[in-house]
Amino acid sequence: NDSFVAPRRALLKISGEALMGSGQFGVDAHTVDRIAADVATVSRSGIEVCLVVGGGNIFRGLTAAARGMDRAQGDYAGMLATVINALMVQNALEREGVATRVMSAIHMSSIAEPYIRRRAVRHMEKGRVVIFAAGTGNPFFTTDTAAALRAAEMDCDLLLKGTQVDGVYSADPRKDATATRYETLTYMDVLSRDLNVMDAAAISLARENRLPIVVFNIHEAGAFEQAVRGEGKFTRIE
Ligand code: UDP
Repeated sequence: NDSFVAPRRALLKISGEALMGSGQFGVDAHTVDRIAADVATVSRSGIEVCLVVGGGNIFRGLTAAARGMDRAQGDYAGMLATVINALMVQNALEREGVATRVMSAIHMSSIAEPYIRRRAVRHMEKGRVVIFAAGTGNPFFTTDTAAALRAAEMDCDLLLKGTQVDGVYSADPRKDATATRYETLTYMDVLSRDLNVMDAAAISLARENRLPIVVFNIHEAGAFEQAVRGEGKFTRIE
């Protein structure tokens, strides 16, 4: 795409599951290192990068609520899970030589800075990768919504969602051989067809703020940099 302009500032949403690698729970160190290497490459190329990290590999409020736990309480536990993941991602990035800051929506001053919007912007202007932890800080939300919210607050040009497959498909490509990948979709397509990309709150927020979303395969080395530059395989939603 010749008309493609690389973003000045991009937010990457990394789900908790992405960090599990081939495991069933928790964090796989090799997978975190691989993803960190890709983030480092994009950051070094001069694009300002921030991250929102999920927590589903450790704890999900909704799952706990289905087993009888109070939903809000479960969600707070889920938000703490994202902080654990954020620290692991921070560690991997710093080993790559990238300066980082974790900013948490729930104050935990011994391990992370409190989230302060203008301070986050300043960190990025200085070339630091900012990792947003604890989602929005509110129960009943998801880290997808946190990603759309922080991307809007940070005035990002692009929101990237790293998934297990290289875009949005008409059906699950791992189960259905006839599934085809969409090159582009509108926000309304995603909402009205209930496509499994990000939850509706996140899509609505992106739509209101005209924030394009790019869905790509986070497990493919180099795919993040390609997707940021409009190359390789992905689905673009705008
Ligand atoms: N969570 C929350 N508010 C937020 C973000 C997350 O309550 O703003 C909780 C919620 O319980 C969720 C858990 O944190 O299940 C982990 O986040 P999420 O499921 O979004 O992680 P991912 O699916 O990306 O791994």
